[in-house]
Amino acid sequence: MKSEELHEKFVEYGSNAKEWMRKCVLLLPEIDRERIWKKKGFGSIYEYAGKLAGMSRYTVNEALRVLKKVEDKPDLQKVIEEKGINCVKPIVTIATLETQEFWAEKARTMSKSEVETYTREWRKQDGLPEKPEKIKIEMELEPEIAQQLENLKGSDDWNNLMKEFLEMRKKQLEQEKPEKVETQSRHIPAKIEKYVLKRSRETCEYPGCRKPYEILHHTCRFALYQEYDPDTIFALCKGHERLFHQGLIENEHKPPGFWKIREKPDKTDPKFKIDLKVMSFRSGFT
Ligand SMILES: [Zn+2]
Repeated sequence: MKSEELHEKFVEYGSNAKEWMRKCVLLLPEIDRERIWKKKGFGSIYEYAGKLAGMSRYTVNEALRVLKKVEDKPDLQKVIEEKGINCVKPIVTIATLETQEFWAEKARTMSKSEVETYTREWRKQDGLPEKPEKIKIEMELEPEIAQQLENLKGSDDWNNLMKEFLEMRKKQLEQEKPEKVETQSRHIPAKIEKYVLKRSRETCEYPGCRKPYEILHHTCRFALYQEYDPDTIFALCKGHERLFHQGLIENEHKPPGFWKIREKPDKTDPKFKIDLKVMSFRSGFT
């Protein structure tokens, strides 16, 4: 068999296997409810699903848990039939009867990791209690550093000392910031890349995210302006970068403190067309 043929066969069998597994999963709640496994002489639903379909205990538990949560939500059930339970898992605890249509659309059009990132931001934004005036953080420091800091703080407030440090860092970065570059080249100039990585400390710049950066993102889209501006290029993790390209972040053109997730993309934004192209191009690979 030629390698291309071999590959095609594998893809075909693989997608069939996935489809049949989805069908099996959907039958589990009723099999469990009617205790069919017992009637057929198995010791438990796990033994039944394991021996007959090669399902792990974890898969059975997750399937029963998720399917129970969506038993009154037909929109989500449909997505499970089409795509399996993984994409629906992150949303089962926030989708309600009224919002299931909205969430079903998200689960249908996003990958599992995109749904996870989106729901995480949603929870933060939605359920955020009022910001306290001050919060406590813990740091592990070398004793010498801790002592120097205590001395520097003196009888003043930690907050003031930290503000001073932050201001100094901001000024220093501002001085080091390279000029923006207009070019046709698809490569970010090395100077700008170095600067963005220093500013972000190679960590996703989405507020509150601590994941290592994976992609440098243009909040003004290179295709629209053909320029590299250090103020509009940000280091992001994959999850957050995808939400930008799906048009699901509001105030993208402003600094990170203003970024917020939104329900739908703004289809009138010229970025939207570009993002559609980017997403369709990428979906072939992921
Ligand atoms: Zn992130």
